[in-house]
Amino acid sequence: MSEMEQIFAADGILAERLAHYNPRSQQLSMAVSVENAIHNKQHAVIEAGTGTGKTFAYLVPALMSGKKVVISTATKTLQDQIFEKDLPTITKALGSPLKVSVLKGRRNYICKHRLDNQVALPSGLSTLEKKQLAHIAEWAVITHKGETTELKEVPETSPIWAQVTSTTDNCLGQACPVYDKCHVVKARKKAITSDIVVVNHHLLLADTRLKEEGFGELLPDADVVIVDEAHQIAELATSVFGTQWNLRRVQRWVKDAQLTALQTQQHVLTRKLDELLKLTRESRLGLQGLSGNMPWSDVPKGFASFLDELHECMSGLTETIKALSDDVEWEALWKRMGGMLAGLEIFTKPLDDKDTAHIRWLDVSHYGYTLHDTPIEISEEFKNLMKTYASSWIFTSATLAVGESFKGFSEPLGIDDAEFSLLDSSFNYQSQSMLMLPKGLPEPNHPNFAVAFTDLAEDLIEASGGGVFLLFTSYRMLNLVADRLRDRIDKDLLIQGQMPRGALLDAFREDGDAVLLGTSTFWEGVDVQGSALRCVVIDKLPFASPGDPVLSAKINAMRERGDNPFMQLQLPQAVISLKQGVGRLIRDEEDYGVLVLCDSRLRSKAYGKTFLKSLPTMPQTDSIEKVRSFYKFYDHG
Ligand code: SF4
Repeated sequence: MSEMEQIFAADGILAERLAHYNPRSQQLSMAVSVENAIHNKQHAVIEAGTGTGKTFAYLVPALMSGKKVVISTATKTLQDQIFEKDLPTITKALGSPLKVSVLKGRRNYICKHRLDNQVALPSGLSTLEKKQLAHIAEWAVITHKGETTELKEVPETSPIWAQVTSTTDNCLGQACPVYDKCHVVKARKKAITSDIVVVNHHLLLADTRLKEEGFGELLPDADVVIVDEAHQIAELATSVFGTQWNLRRVQRWVKDAQLTALQTQQHVLTRKLDELLKLTRESRLGLQGLSGNMPWSDVPKGFASFLDELHECMSGLTETIKALSDDVEWEALWKRMGGMLAGLEIFTKPLDDKDTAHIRWLDVSHYGYTLHDTPIEISEEFKNLMKTYASSWIFTSATLAVGESFKGFSEPLGIDDAEFSLLDSSFNYQSQSMLMLPKGLPEPNHPNFAVAFTDLAEDLIEASGGGVFLLFTSYRMLNLVADRLRDRIDKDLLIQGQMPRGALLDAFREDGDAVLLGTSTFWEGVDVQGSALRCVVIDKLPFASPGDPVLSAKINAMRERGDNPFMQLQLPQAVISLKQGVGRLIRDEEDYGVLVLCDSRLRSKAYGKTFLKSLPTMPQTDSIEKVRSFYKFYDHG
């Protein structure tokens, strides 16, 4: 018996030491694949269906290897879950002496230096912000880790956090007067000396790009990188490998410079700083009436002159501040401005029509905008990153394959030398679930779709007795259905936007029979176990909008190469998104429920089969009566 077999066996160490341990063949297979990849210094790509227990399946071989391992996951919540729940459970069960740590982005730690500055000169803050600042200052004296989430009294969304946390460009690094007490420095040092470090994808990718001076890097010493929730890594890498220029960043710089001008009595700068702030606001007004993402070709012609004016004003300020840079604060502000100017220069240059490797685009938000220069392909860069760092990369997620093919995941990342494994869910979908493909619904873009969808939703809510997720691909459809459904059902209707996502999910869990309406944010990372969620209804196949500038540029590039963007890009992406949505239904061996897919193209189009083949095998029906019988069997409805 191999070491992994002994650990994961029905009478093995985990069974002996963990309450409710349940041996699963898929979990053992995954652990063996991870162990082999680490041992042989190879890469592995593993789709592990829901219920496999994939976290333990990679943690056990990672801990047993004795190597330096970086584990990266998608969100801070998942980081906390691995670090606070899963890692302690497994290290205790295995009696592992290894040193483990968690590292988050710098915005998650209080910056003592910026906090001291704000407390000394709290001008420009609202009454509420001043109150919150007082709370933060009190807590900053007693906290050991300095993680902002520890302080529940100040909401995560408060603008005060931006003033008392750091970014790469406003941190003074080793020149900081409180460097020795800095929480970011302490967290990074701990991470660098740990055997196992839990990070998030953004930090993992940014660490290879930013090379933060004086802070050390995480990856150079890593032997193994495990990327969990790996279906998200390509999109994040595309963003990190590109250049962004954000208006709010300039405005935050002005705010910091105003504070430093007050502290250092450089009142002559006030007028120039006000002028820059005014220009930033005017440039946003130049985009009035616009919102969302748009290609550079759609940007109003006059917008370029706003960018030129900003550039000129920022250049002038740089010269003035340079003369003050024997002061450590002004030196940092000068360097920061240099970085922002260099970024802006990319966008003030005329577009090079011959540059087919990048797409330039604009993202307009309520108060600001971000300029983007995004690479169309990232495979070479990602491949090099893998080669440079760590001998073994392991990618895992519940959703990586389309049918049995991993091409949609591996090709964009340039992964061509990995072991690929597809492990089925350990749940019994045949008995725990049912798939309904309703007949007679119009296509989702048809004007009558919302009416027909609402009628069906009403029947399903009545059949299941509630406990329903209605998942939409657009706010428009969500709102149309919410308006129609409101007075027609006697269950609590929880609608995205009514309250924060976490609170909405808590209310849903607590109610037990509620109906939740949500868009993409509820398709992923939502775990409602038990009968509170017993029906998932999806309005439309989740194809990304071809109006998105990056997707549209990728489609054009593929067409020019003679590839088929629909089959090679759009379809695989949509299949992965659908699998994520479907994955919300069965979260436990005791769960049961009906999945309802309302897009009639699943039947009418040839590609419908690709979607259906990628889902777990379930009994299929088009009849609401069968759905009623299903719930009667489970005594609900
Ligand atoms: S080193 Fe940077 S993050 Fe740390 S306290 Fe100083 S300025 Fe803040």
